[in-house]
Amino acid sequence: MTSSSIRRLALLAATALMALAPSLALAGGEVNIYSSRHYDTDERLYSDFTEATGIKINLIEGKEEELMERMKAEGANSPADVFVTADAGRLWRAYEGKLLQAVDSGILKDRIPEALRQPEGYWFAVSQRARVIFYDKAKVSEPPKTYAELADPKYKGKICARTSSNIYMLSLLAAFISHNGEQAAKAWAQGFKDNLARDPQGGDTDQIKAVVSGECEIAVANTYYFARAIAGGVDGLSGSTDKIGLVFPDQDGNGTHVNISGAGVAANSPNRDNAVKFLEYLTSDSAQQYFANGNNEYPVVAGVKANSIVEGLGGFKADTLNLNELGVHQARAQEIYNEVGYK
Ligand code: FE
Repeated sequence: MTSSSIRRLALLAATALMALAPSLALAGGEVNIYSSRHYDTDERLYSDFTEATGIKINLIEGKEEELMERMKAEGANSPADVFVTADAGRLWRAYEGKLLQAVDSGILKDRIPEALRQPEGYWFAVSQRARVIFYDKAKVSEPPKTYAELADPKYKGKICARTSSNIYMLSLLAAFISHNGEQAAKAWAQGFKDNLARDPQGGDTDQIKAVVSGECEIAVANTYYFARAIAGGVDGLSGSTDKIGLVFPDQDGNGTHVNISGAGVAANSPNRDNAVKFLEYLTSDSAQQYFANGNNEYPVVAGVKANSIVEGLGGFKADTLNLNELGVHQARAQEIYNEVGYK
């Protein structure tokens, strides 16, 4: 090889390297994540991101309402870049409180189904869960097949559920309002309240436990609480999960009510580019698996599988209502619960 051809080869190699440089170079810097979620598998999620991008993650954990208060108090000086929380109803509250900003990302639009992101890009789903009906297989031969049936007098005194101020209950009724109107929603809330076996109380796990203990025959709760119990270690439930049946409601209608864990870029994000990169990273196949598995949820990106316990709950048709609607009707949902005396 002549020296000029060696030079030419070296030049070619250098040009090729430069073309690759943007993807190889570590962007560096940092991103501050305010998160109301903590699972051990998230550690791996964060370290993988840092390894791939060189962006350091500073994680600030707290309860969702506390984090929102903190962002509000910090105002324009807030170091928050990304806000992570559960339930579209809460993300909507963050949006309403002007704590988030719109993001226009082709990756996020491509990867996340339209129903699971705020239409203007203020927040995006990262994982999803379904709010379903659990029942005592030995006592209930005909479990409700729809949310509407939960208000049928034939289930009088049989149902356990949470209090109305709980965001999951507000989002469920908000979806009902969006599909059926306020009048129908009020009639439903009245019938549902009349069917309660006890005053609304406790968390989702407590509702399913109450079916095991015999306090009620039917309960409403999110899928991941049941999956967690199947995985083991949930007192009063883990040994009894095979006695409990699960119905994905509304399979012949709108589909089962789903909700999300999601994230948005903070309104005053000082590291906006890194924040967007982090959200985009969360939609990668591997991150989707870590994020969903951390809480036994379903990934939101098509083709990524949930863990085997969650898959074992069975497939279902999900409601495709845009989850922004859950926020839009949230205040009215609370009023309706109050009007019918649902605690
Ligand atoms: Fe929960």
